[in-house]
Parts: sequence; C-alpha cells; structure tokens
Amino acid sequence: MHQPANKVLIVEDSRAINKMLAHHIATQLHIDVESAVSMQEAKQILETQSEQFFVAILDLNLPDAPNGEVVDVVLGLGIPPIILTGSMCDDLHDEMLEKPIVDYVVKRNLNEIEYVIETVQRLRENRERKVLVVDDSRSSRQLISSLLQRHYLEVLEACDGVEALDVLSENDDILLMVTDYNMPRMDGMELITKVREKYSRHELAIIGISTSGSGTVSIKLLKSGANDFITRPFMHEEFYCRINQNIDAVASYCMLRDAADRDFLTGLFNRKYLFNTGNKLFQNAQRKNISLTVAMIDIDFFKKINDMHGHHVGDMALKHVASIFNQQLREADMITRFGGEEFCMLCVNVSDASAEVLFRRFRESIDNTPLVIGDLTVPMTVSIGYSTELADSLDHMINDADAALYDAKEGGRNRVVRFVKNEEVS
Ligand code: GH3
Ligand code: MG
Ligand code: MG
Repeated sequence: MHQPANKVLIVEDSRAINKMLAHHIATQLHIDVESAVSMQEAKQILETQSEQFFVAILDLNLPDAPNGEVVDVVLGLGIPPIILTGSMCDDLHDEMLEKPIVDYVVKRNLNEIEYVIETVQRLRENRERKVLVVDDSRSSRQLISSLLQRHYLEVLEACDGVEALDVLSENDDILLMVTDYNMPRMDGMELITKVREKYSRHELAIIGISTSGSGTVSIKLLKSGANDFITRPFMHEEFYCRINQNIDAVASYCMLRDAADRDFLTGLFNRKYLFNTGNKLFQNAQRKNISLTVAMIDIDFFKKINDMHGHHVGDMALKHVASIFNQQLREADMITRFGGEEFCMLCVNVSDASAEVLFRRFRESIDNTPLVIGDLTVPMTVSIGYSTELADSLDHMINDADAALYDAKEGGRNRVVRFVKNEEVS
C-alpha cells in the first residue's frame, strides 16, 4: 500500500538549530526527520526519499545556496516548505511569499523554534480536518482551496449558500467554513444565520470574506454569527493566521468536550457517557421495537497481572484490551469502560445469532493476542455475560448481563454466557 508522506526534512547549516529542531520533532511529535546542512546534502537525500516528506524546513542562507535556492528545489518536488531566515530582508521576504510556501519564520529566539514545531504538528493534524469553502466565483474558490490544501486541510467546496447547507448536512465533521458574502440564491449572511441554528461558534468556526470598500459587510457577517472575517485582497500570511487561530479554537473545544465523555487511560467512552447516551439508545429501542444487546466484559484474574508485573503493566493491559475492542467494533456498537477492568458494550439491531458470534470473536481475539512488552508476554482472557432480552430499563439489562457474567466466571472464566430469564445457560 502507498504510505502517505510522513517525514520532515530539515536543511539548516547551523548545527545547533538543526539538531534542536530534529530532536524536538522526533521526541515531541514522534515524526521521523532527515537533516542536511547544505543544499548538496539535501539534494542527495531528496534523490531517493523525496516522496516521503510532507514538509521541509529550509534555511534561506546555506553555504552553497546563499539566496534561498533550496526553496525551488524542494517546491519542484512538490514538498511545501517552512522557511527559516536569520534576518527579515524585505525583498527576499516578498519574493518568498509569492511562492507556495507554508510559512516564513525569522529565527530570533527559542519561541520561533517552538512555533516551527507547532506548525509541523498542525500540518500533520490538518490531514484529518475538513474545511468548507463557499464562493460563487470559481477562481476565488480555487485560490482559497489551494491555500488550504497546501496546509493539508481537506477541502470541500460549494458555489452558494444552498449548496453549502447540503454539504454541511452530509459532513458533520467540518471544523471551519470560509464563505463569501455576495452569492446567488443564498448570500453569506443568510447562510451563516442558517448554519448557526444548528452549530455553535465553538464547534464550527466561520470566516466571512468581504471585499475591501464594501462598507458594512464585515459587520453584517460578524453579527450574523461569523467568528472572524478577512478582507479581499489579503496577504497569504494574514489568511493563514486567521485560519490557524480559528481551527485551533474549534479543535481545543472539541478536545475538551470529548474528554468529558472519555476515560483517560483507555480513551474509551466512560460510565457517564454510557448512562447519557445508552439511556437514549434504550428508549429508542423500546419505542421502535429495535433489538438491543447489552454485554458486560470483565478481564479474568486482572489483579494477578498487577500483583505480578506492577500497576504500570496493568494499565498497559487495560489499554491493550481496549485497542482490541476498538478493532473489532462495528459502527453501531458502543463500548465503555464501566469501571476498573470491566467494560460495558451496547449493540443495536443484532440478532441473537450474530450477538453470539460477535462476543465469541471478542473473547477469542483477546485470548489469541497476549500483551507483549519487550521480552515480557502477558496472556489475557476475558469473561463475557450478555443479554438480548429488552428489559424495562437499561440498568435492568446491565444487571441481567452482569448475572450472566457472574456465571461465566463461576463456570471457569474465558467464556461467554447469555442471560436467559429465570435460568441462565451457556
Ligand atoms: P476476576 O477474574 O474474578 O475478575 O478477578 P480479577 O482479579 O480480575 O478481579 P478483581 O475485581 O478481584 O480485581 C480487579 C483489580 O483491577 C483490582 C484493581 O486494583 C485493579 N484495577 C482497577 N482499575 C485499575 C486500573 O486503572 N489500573 C490498574 N493497573 N489496575 C486496576
Ligand atoms: Mg476481573
Ligand atoms: Mg472485577
């Protein structure tokens, strides 16, 4: 399979800066780095590995390329560069900004190094981020899209407000919308007003674009719910600053919101989430007569893992089990860390036969995949109790599944037991 480019190239003749960047990128971001101290060395690396780099950090002043010549070499290979320079020289700055670069950074102090590292991290994270560009002019749309794509954002386009609403309804993971004001059918203001009925400014940022001299348009856009605006024509640097600030704000908000629903250790949903969302699922199942399956899954003799290898290995074992669950999970299933080494799973619309297959596969995959840490191999098993009987509450179904789990433990562990009313059978 074709691997996406995932390395960083650093071309910088100051060995101190080169080393510091390489070290931070490797240890903080866990990204592989190739370092060169001259254009010639960079060319050698690029000869064999050019397809592996998603970004290059380039010093404009190298011993064998004193005027930024390395920039065109890297751009020629389709790698977007972050430019480092020792001093702000206006001519060179303007010349570089006309090229499709990611950013232009003046090396003054450690803060700038930190900024470069943040930029590399942002580019990597942008691959998972969707932006919607709304503009009736094809050329403006293309210009904005290409600027965003250079920063690896995934771009969707719409030619007016009506189309934008369609795209949004099909993609609920858009973080940012950049919209023009004047458009046929539905203008930017009406679009923003409609979007705000559904999405708050914390979960979807909107940047309005107005043309300079268009009077109160920017105020109208902000008042209808835009987070920010840009006036055309704009400098690329300003555009990127606003895009980055707005994406950062939404990303932090989503991270915090999701963190409240997640268990810190395993990243699975937590008990609070189970009861909030699980109760809704339960009521929906009850109302529409949809089948619901509840399973309680408990790691066998987990205390022994802690006792023999320490709490740290116990934690790794919990993460290991959670990652196996995640691999096996289907779209419609929900798994939560119920507490300690116990997990609760809800599945909507599975037949009794598929539930049996599903949980047998869960049990087997844990049994067949021990935790391996260096030379240490820690075998693990789980016991599973489940119920497909729709009871009068989610709590009640959890209790039924728990009763079946108890039988699985009593029966010798590493097994799956289905709850049957009045009588539980294997
Ligand atoms: P059984 O097969 O009957 O389930 O035995 P068990 O040892 O798995 O069950 P028991 O309930 O006796 O022990 C569970 C242990 O899980 C006790 C507790 O210290 C440990 N535990 C709970 N949460 C965590 C955690 O977050 N990290 C670690 N390392 N251990 C945990
Ligand atoms: Mg246990
Ligand atoms: Mg237990």
